[in-house]
Amino acid sequence: MSNAFKHDFSEKFSAGLSRIKKRKLPKLSAPSPRWYPVLGALAGFLFILLFIGGAGQDARARMTVPHEEWLNAVHPAVSTALRIRNEQLHSGDHAVAALQRLGFGKSESHRMVATANEKYQLKNVRAGQVFKRVDSDNGIDFYYNVDAEKRLHLHQQKGQTDWQAKIEPRKIYSRQRISSGTIEGSLFGAAERAGMDQRTTMNLVDIFAWDIDFARDMRSGDTFKVIYEERYDDNGKTLESNILAAQFVNQGKTYQAVRYEQADGKVSYFTPDGKSMRKAYLKAPVKFSRISSRFHLKRKHPILGYTRAHRGVDYAAPSGTPIHAIGDGYIAFKGWKGGYGRFILIRHNNRQHSTAYAHMRRYARGIKKGMHVKQGQIIGYVGMSGLATGPHLHFEFRSRGRAVNPLTVKHPPAKPVAKSELPRFLQQTAPLLGQLKQQQTGLVWS
Ligand SMILES: [Zn+2]
Repeated sequence: MSNAFKHDFSEKFSAGLSRIKKRKLPKLSAPSPRWYPVLGALAGFLFILLFIGGAGQDARARMTVPHEEWLNAVHPAVSTALRIRNEQLHSGDHAVAALQRLGFGKSESHRMVATANEKYQLKNVRAGQVFKRVDSDNGIDFYYNVDAEKRLHLHQQKGQTDWQAKIEPRKIYSRQRISSGTIEGSLFGAAERAGMDQRTTMNLVDIFAWDIDFARDMRSGDTFKVIYEERYDDNGKTLESNILAAQFVNQGKTYQAVRYEQADGKVSYFTPDGKSMRKAYLKAPVKFSRISSRFHLKRKHPILGYTRAHRGVDYAAPSGTPIHAIGDGYIAFKGWKGGYGRFILIRHNNRQHSTAYAHMRRYARGIKKGMHVKQGQIIGYVGMSGLATGPHLHFEFRSRGRAVNPLTVKHPPAKPVAKSELPRFLQQTAPLLGQLKQQQTGLVWS
């Protein structure tokens, strides 16, 4: 108990110390959740710009239309005789009203709803969803996405009055994009300027999480380049985004990763020479935070003159920020521990290492003593329980029971690509790595 108090006293004044000594650390903050809808809308808007504009902002974006029978192709290049209209449903909306806004007459709209009822009750429509009307030489088509896989399709043949309804698989498109940017202030800002959605940015952070501590290592001037595949539906909504290859230049050091499916079907990211990007431990337990106090076993305070140890690293982050287990292991302790407040100790699988997480606001749901946790799993949330002057995570890395500096400890990588598979790996990933290399600007060879 007294140790814990001592610990936190040291924490208080070393936080002050780090403020005095603070180097130029870039501001790196995830946007607060209240901005998510705005960012989402913005990303959507950007996407629509790209979609409608074809080449748009990223001239290298390739659009792939699936090779399948497509009764009423909506690809602008193939059909000029098409007229497409979308109508978004608002809350309290009625199918008939929305159909009328699409230009159908009242009795026509009622007929359509009645026909649709054989397959899908249009009175179940949800706000935010879209009614789509496509006019062509062939007649009129009406589409409504029922769920992630299926859509309702109504068709009226040219010159006829009756409608046919069917439920069919939704059209999913995919395209490959390349985004690149330079960090000035925040990664999210730079990624947004590059036209990347938040999901892709988070994926990028996850790929390099073993090598780059995005809280500590990031600098203005760092660059990134990402090749990713987006899958989106016929309303232009992104369903999935997978990074195929990525590069991050951090403080002059280049990190590259490629996605590869191994013979056993497992998909993971590797370095260009086939080493795993994964390591036994993540570089930091909190994404997007700021280090407010570093590890020092004995240091004389330059002003106050006395010596205190700080056996961990403090990550200052907003209260409620998720805390991730940095490696696989089991919960050896969970509970209140004096000045540490809400505290979790994880003993890792090699039995030599353990990690400690303190001052939590709360534990993640379902976390119990003795249970196994996976690397990256959320175990709790940043808070200031126990003795802490502000919300932060006090994090310790212990080797055979002794605290070591989490920021300098070296972690061995996970299993590389199997030797027998290496030729296939190199062959498959070469084009992507070639693309990463291309259009590298700012390099002058003389
Ligand atoms: Zn601390």
